[in-house]
Amino acid sequence: MHRHVIRRFHTGLLLRALSAASLAALASFSGGSVRAEAARPDALRVGFARVCITPEQPLWLHGYASQPRFRPFEGKLNDLYAKAMAIEDSRGERAVLITLDLCVIRAPEAAALFGRLTQRTGLARRQLLVNFSHTHSGPMIGSSDFSRVPMPAEDQQATLAYTAQLYEKIADVTLAALADLKPAELAWGTGRCDFVRNRRLYREDGSYRGMGPNPDKPVDDTVPVLRVSAPGGPVRGLVFGCACHPVTFGQENLKLSGDYASFAQEEVEASHPGVQAMFVQGCGADANSDPRCGPDAEKHVRLQGRSLAAEVGRVAKGPLEPVRGPLRVKFAEVALPLKPIPPRAELEKMTGTLAHNAKRMLAALDSGRPLPSHHQHPLALWHFGGDLTLVALSGEVVSGYARSVRRELGADRLWVAGYSNEVDGYLPDATIVAEGGYEARGLVADIGFYSADAERTLVQAVREASRALPKSSPEKIPR
Ligand SMILES: [Zn+2]
Repeated sequence: MHRHVIRRFHTGLLLRALSAASLAALASFSGGSVRAEAARPDALRVGFARVCITPEQPLWLHGYASQPRFRPFEGKLNDLYAKAMAIEDSRGERAVLITLDLCVIRAPEAAALFGRLTQRTGLARRQLLVNFSHTHSGPMIGSSDFSRVPMPAEDQQATLAYTAQLYEKIADVTLAALADLKPAELAWGTGRCDFVRNRRLYREDGSYRGMGPNPDKPVDDTVPVLRVSAPGGPVRGLVFGCACHPVTFGQENLKLSGDYASFAQEEVEASHPGVQAMFVQGCGADANSDPRCGPDAEKHVRLQGRSLAAEVGRVAKGPLEPVRGPLRVKFAEVALPLKPIPPRAELEKMTGTLAHNAKRMLAALDSGRPLPSHHQHPLALWHFGGDLTLVALSGEVVSGYARSVRRELGADRLWVAGYSNEVDGYLPDATIVAEGGYEARGLVADIGFYSADAERTLVQAVREASRALPKSSPEKIPR
């Protein structure tokens, strides 16, 4: 209501004071159709914005629910940001990518965030895509993880106050990116990252043994890079991905940091003045940065940031493929099947990583509460003409999903992201469900262990969402 009043006030009384350019921007911002000139059908406009989300007071960090972390952070190595890229095609279709230097968002907090964002921005849910870098040295958000750590009441209050403020900042940065929409040329290419290491170790008989660097098992080491430039002019934004846990800082680190993802963004921005760098986490749930932890962690993380930034810079120089409109944005909630609830005797024996779900299943059985058979998985798909498809999966997605989606849609002109929209625990592929181990530990705020059928169900949903979308022929943009 209030927002409408302000908008009417603006359009009714202030228009004479605005320049022609800002008038066009305001009309477009209000959903109007005023344009300076008729755009080509495949033209895109892009806007960027950022807001600092570094907590004003020390909060508990999220990523390692263990003793050294049971206190607020002490000092900082990076400022953390919410960054937004708004895109609009010539038909007026719009979507906004928001990247956050934060660890996770559980299902209840995701519902609250998107409720607030749609309310404040006027965008539909499907037009908003949020990606979490998954830094393990950023602040916890929301209350969903309070039960897993011994956080005193006053620190809980500070975390909740930060979370409420964060939602408003994310809405602010979304609106600011929409207000920045300008004609743009987009292009993309792919590089490689050298510090992404599979982290699942096996015994000689092939059974799962534990966590540690395993160069013999696959990862997704691709580095997708989207370059956004002013038409014929300078680069405005570099959006890049990497599929790897930002865990170069281990649980002993108490300094606020975005880990390698923040160091890489800072380095890209330092070497490309005026450019907004945005990091998109991929299907890196079964990969850790290598080397990591120990007394040299800070040295390692700076080197990793520099090497990833150098690869982004190399790819951005071209040759690149053009990315044009029209923009088609799809969003679906896919019901992923969970395993049947194990018998009580089996639940009572579950320890270690399985205990979190086993305990809550037993409590539900005791009180006669029904347990879910499926988890609703937010799936986003952005299709740019026939040039590029961004598939954004939710949860801590293992690298097998990147391989499955590539097999299904073709590896060309495809960007597969994980850690998007909601991160309520690991999403193991069928192989990892069968093998068990860390990434098969189940949901966090919701309850359950994924079934081996979850992978097939989700890949089929991706295929459905991308069916009948046009393909274009490859065309290189020269350096
Ligand atoms: Zn993780």
